Formats: sequence, structure tokens, C-alpha cells
Amino acid sequence: MINDLLNKRTKIVATISDKNCEPDFLRQLFEAGMDVVRVNSAHLDPEGAIKIISNARSVSDKISVILDTKGPEIRTTICDEPLKFLKGQSVKIAGHSDEKTTLQVINVNYRDIAMFVPTGVYILIDDGELEIKITEKDGDILVGRIENDGVLGSRKTVNIPQVRINLPSVSERDLTFIDLAVKLDVEFIAHSFVRSKEDVLAVQKLLDSHDSKIKIIAKIENQQGVDNLEEIMDNCYAIMVARGDLAIEVPFERIPGIQRAIIGKCIEKRKPVIVATQMLHSMITNPRPTRAEVSDVANAVYSQTDAVMLSGETAAGKYPLESVRTMTKIACEIEGEKDQYIEMPAGSLSGEVSAYLAKVAVKTSIRINARTILADTVNGTAIRNMAAFRGIKPIVALCYSYRTMRELSLSYGVIPVYMEKKQSVDEFIRVSLRDLLSKHDLNDNDIIVVLAGNFSRAAGFSFIEVGTVEYLKERVRISESDLMA
Ligand code: PGA
Ligand code: MN
Repeated sequence: MINDLLNKRTKIVATISDKNCEPDFLRQLFEAGMDVVRVNSAHLDPEGAIKIISNARSVSDKISVILDTKGPEIRTTICDEPLKFLKGQSVKIAGHSDEKTTLQVINVNYRDIAMFVPTGVYILIDDGELEIKITEKDGDILVGRIENDGVLGSRKTVNIPQVRINLPSVSERDLTFIDLAVKLDVEFIAHSFVRSKEDVLAVQKLLDSHDSKIKIIAKIENQQGVDNLEEIMDNCYAIMVARGDLAIEVPFERIPGIQRAIIGKCIEKRKPVIVATQMLHSMITNPRPTRAEVSDVANAVYSQTDAVMLSGETAAGKYPLESVRTMTKIACEIEGEKDQYIEMPAGSLSGEVSAYLAKVAVKTSIRINARTILADTVNGTAIRNMAAFRGIKPIVALCYSYRTMRELSLSYGVIPVYMEKKQSVDEFIRVSLRDLLSKHDLNDNDIIVVLAGNFSRAAGFSFIEVGTVEYLKERVRISESDLMA
């Protein structure tokens, strides 16, 4: 079992719905390679979110949780049944957020919509499933022409790519869910439609007011987000390439290039990055992926993303388990194909000495064909700094807090493990090596690269030691009887 874990370096995020979140199901996904559970607040009430999160926690303390906010986005209101629209038909669009959507009037959750939308522009609903051209304006109501046959369900996304609408960074609904995230102490909030650093800072301010350690993942899903990537990155923990909305807001042929550029920048800046949406879309209804989907996942892995994500595939699809297994298979195959090491400056995220030792450790591990790198960490910074080199040897990260352990479940090639307070470097090697030996099947002549800190606990690495399992066992006096215990 654990040997499998030593093999997959790309992390998998799976979106889970409250309709299908029993612990047994989540355990199966976890064992198939799911590292992170995403809870999408757009489709849930707080009770549903609580249920998913507590079930995930009950399966393993290693699974981290992303709570996804709606952010500044517009959605249609609910309708009684799926509405069939026909090409050429005329329809009104209004901002009566407490009224239902019908074949005559599509209502959205934004009152002032007519103020911002001129005639002649296109409105895209449900990721572009339904296209409407605005032909007239009648007071605070827009009139449009349906451009293609399509079916509209409840609470679907509304994109108006040509128009910048001044929505607040955090909606009323988001406030409720951010409070909930703080209460449940999840690891991450993924904030939707981040346009600039202000959107990130608005969420950060709320988190700070609660003294929360939750980390923010900025979802890049429109042109403004792409344009302001640098400042957004400087103010968040991680980035999601949210291709679902991005491919509507921006011409879709630009998405592959944008994806590649964002991944590259994130690696350089040591920010975890997730590639999201429609990666195995056809597996919502089919047991096997299309050839194009296999290539899409492979392409993200070739670009050395930290994580790939499943949405409808695991939240509402017929083949959720097969979807996770498919991703794991593709990731392992592609990772095994080439030397992925990225030559770049050591960085200084966790101090100069620490960063340089980390780089040396990764290079050494590859050169001497070590089995693994063993390192300890207080807040994970030094580990993320090291993960950015994309070395081919797994980094077993011994974390002194559960939060750090779970945060690292989003980082490429890191196997986070919880460890109680350490006393000395020798004690750290002793405890972690014993843990490693008890779970993995290591040979006496496997080489291990050990990185640890001798300074105060948060100063990063100060110490590197390389040796065979046999040598290290002897050095820290681990006996056979120790291992039996
Ligand atoms: P969503 O975000 O699933 O919350 O819309 C991801 C995306 O837009 O790709
Ligand atoms: Mn989106």
C-alpha cells in the first residue's frame, strides 16, 4: 500500500458532493490516489459541506480540504424543471434574485445586471451551453435572442466576457461559507474569479479577523486574473487554473498556453498549482477516458503541475473511482518517463542556508539514486521550496503539526507524515527512520538523504546527512527488536 504512495508525485484533488460522500466511498478514492477533497459551496448548503468535511476527516487525517467560494460570480436562479430553449427564441434577463427562472425570464443573482450590459454583447450560461445575444434593454430588464438550442437547469453560471462588472470581492453567501471554513478549520479556501490582489486581500482580511491559518488558493478564471497574475501570486498560497470559466472568459485556444505559463511561474515562485476542470469529463458517463483526455492529464503532468483536479467526474459522475484511478495511472506513467529535475536558483523562502541545502539534497538524491529524502518541517516552507525542483525522489516530510502535514498534501512529490515534537537531530532521524521502515519496504542498502534543522525550530535546514539504511540504523541505534515493537 505504502509503496504505491512512494510512486505518485502529482497530487489529485477530487470534488465531492453531499449526495455521494459516505466514508467508504471517500476511503476508496483516498486509496486510489485522492489527496485533497474539494467542497464547492456553489452547489451546497452549509449542512452538506459539514457532512462532506467530517466524513473526509474520518477517513484519514492526511486528507486536506478545500472549500471553494463562489467569489464575484453571477448565476441564474433556480427553475422548477430543466428548461428547453430553442434557437431564435426571445428571452428576458433580469436581476430578481429571489424569483425563479422560467422560459420567459432568466433571473440572475445580480440586481444591476442591466446597468452594466449593453446591447450587442453575448451572455454565456452554464459554461457556454446556452448563448444569448442581447438585442434590447427595457429599463432594468435585458432582452436577448437565444443563439443555440440548449437546456438550462438551476443555478448555472453566467459569463459576460466582453463586460467588466464591478462585483464585490466577497459575496454574502461567501461570508457564510468563509465563517464555516474557519469553524471547521479546513486547510484551504479556493476563492473564485480572483481579478486582482484586492480580491485575495479581502478574503485574507476576513481570515485574519478570525485569527485563522487557512491558506488561500486564487482561482484564475478570467482575463483580469491572467493579467494580474504576479500580484495575485504574491498574496496567495496557491493558484488554480480554473479552465471551466477561463475558457469562456478568454478565447479557448489560449488556455493551453496560459496553463503552461501559470504552472511555470508557480514553480519558480514556489506556489502550489492545480490544473482544473474537464480533465476526464467524458468519464462522468463513460468508464474509459477519451484519448484527448488522457493527453490532457499527461500534458499537465509534463508541465509539472503540483496537482490535477476532478470536478463533475467525482461529484456527480457514474465512474468516480475509475476517474481517480485513471488519473493516478496517467500521472505515474508520465512521471516515470523522464528526469524532471528543474535547474533554478535555490530561492530563499526559508532562509539562504536552508534553501541551498534543500537544492543540494534534491540533486544528491538524483545523482546517487537515493530511495527518498527525509526532512522535518515546522510550517512547510522549506519543504515547498524543495518540492519546486521537481526531483524524482519522494520527499518524506515529517511535520510537527497536523495542519502543516495536510497543507503539504497539495505539494508535488511530498509525502507528509505527522511527528510529535523532536528533541535532537539524532532523535528526529531515529523516529522518522523507524516510521519509514515500519511502513515501507526498504532494503538495508537503500540510500536515504536526511535533511534536518539544528537551529531554532523554524529556521529551516542546517544539516544534511547521506547514508544507507543500514548505516543510519546503526548510527541512531535502531535495533531489530525496536522495529518489532
Ligand atoms: P468551478 O471552478 O468548478 O467552481 O466553476 C473551476 C473552473 O471554473 O474551472
Ligand atoms: Mn469556475
